[in-house]
Amino acid sequence: MPELQPARGTQDLLPETMRRHRRVSDTAREQARLYGFAEIATPVFEFTEVFARPIGEHTDIVAKEMYTFNDRGGEEITLRPENTAGVVRAVLSNGLTQSTPLKFFYSGPMFRYERPQKGRFRQFHQIGVELLGVAQPQADIEVIALGHRILQALGIGNRVTLDINTLGDPESRARYRGALVDYYTQHRAELSEDSQRRLDSNPLRILDSKDPGDIGINGSAPAFGLYLNEPSREFFARVKDGLGLLGIECRENPRLVRGLDYYTHTVFEFVTTDLGAQGTVLAGGRYDGLVEVMGGPAMPGVGWAAGIERLAMLIGEPPALARPIALVPLGEAAERAALKLGEALRDAGLVVELTYSGNLQRRMRRADRIGARAAVLIGDNELAQNAATLRDLDSGAQELVPLGDLPARLKALAG
Ligand code: ATP
Ligand code: MG
Repeated sequence: MPELQPARGTQDLLPETMRRHRRVSDTAREQARLYGFAEIATPVFEFTEVFARPIGEHTDIVAKEMYTFNDRGGEEITLRPENTAGVVRAVLSNGLTQSTPLKFFYSGPMFRYERPQKGRFRQFHQIGVELLGVAQPQADIEVIALGHRILQALGIGNRVTLDINTLGDPESRARYRGALVDYYTQHRAELSEDSQRRLDSNPLRILDSKDPGDIGINGSAPAFGLYLNEPSREFFARVKDGLGLLGIECRENPRLVRGLDYYTHTVFEFVTTDLGAQGTVLAGGRYDGLVEVMGGPAMPGVGWAAGIERLAMLIGEPPALARPIALVPLGEAAERAALKLGEALRDAGLVVELTYSGNLQRRMRRADRIGARAAVLIGDNELAQNAATLRDLDSGAQELVPLGDLPARLKALAG
């Protein structure tokens, strides 16, 4: 049988990597809690329509990236490519629309059929937040401040830059869309194939193109600023003012748009130059039209999502693990005593690992390999005295300790 491999674009998260992921998600969850965001988990798969309608047929996600299949009952199912649509679906399914504002935090796997490369996978993981039911710019400011705070807490605040832009309200957006269509139509033949397609479907997305030819044409594209109406301008000014008040520096980037159709007003990204082409670590914006598109009442929303893999690559070493205590029984009776002693020591909060088999030498090698702080040796001699031999594996010192004193002695050692 050929050696089994993980499917393309997926990876095993071995303990070392998993610990980095945990550090990212635990830090985010803890900071989100300080703002009153409660954790939610929606299913990893949904009916395809949950994503297809709100995300928009013409986005890259729906057009090329979704994992869609028919299940055995003939239902059209999609593995979630992102979590905002799932959260909104959950709000509607559970009748939560009366209890706004709603504030949710999530963390989990997402799936997109993409070309795998550094920082880009087919199964990847996101943390994210959604704040539903608040039309005021305070919500935008708060979710950005939360993202900023998480990046600070992860120790990478100085390695990311916050880019911000506005897409205005629907009226402004429609006016701008018209201006872009006029402009790009004049340059139609020079545009990349993808962007020619976007010209008919989602012209704002051309601004986000990574094609070198498109980037040249984008250089002279009309800027959104000229097409913003007064309320949109005012909204953006208030968001920027709030960020300034909190000392959160940002860079206005008129080329910043989101891949999804339902964004209005504020869009933002925290980007880094330390990860090559996949530089966006956290991205989000306001999506006032989404809940209605999904069949709910008019309800504003704002949120963001961040890639855990990308953040995990940026953070330093996660905190050191507590060093275990190794139990080294020798003989039948001692094996049984060690099982019980292990439980008593774990009751005291110690990390305890049994050395499962072999002679003394082999068991001590095992204790060494797991980085044990101390070994607790039990043989017939110790058993007869209701005691154990405690060996400090750093100093080599060893002494006989009554079993009753062991937890306290080991706790003092384990620090
Ligand atoms: P990109 O332009 O990199 O494709 P996107 O606009 O598709 O990003 P979003 O849908 O906004 O990304 O997702 C938010 C974040 O999730 C991204 O900024 C990134 O950190 C992460 N992310 C998105 N797609 C992937 C992927 N395929 N692999 C790993 N992380 C990803
Ligand atoms: Mg993408």
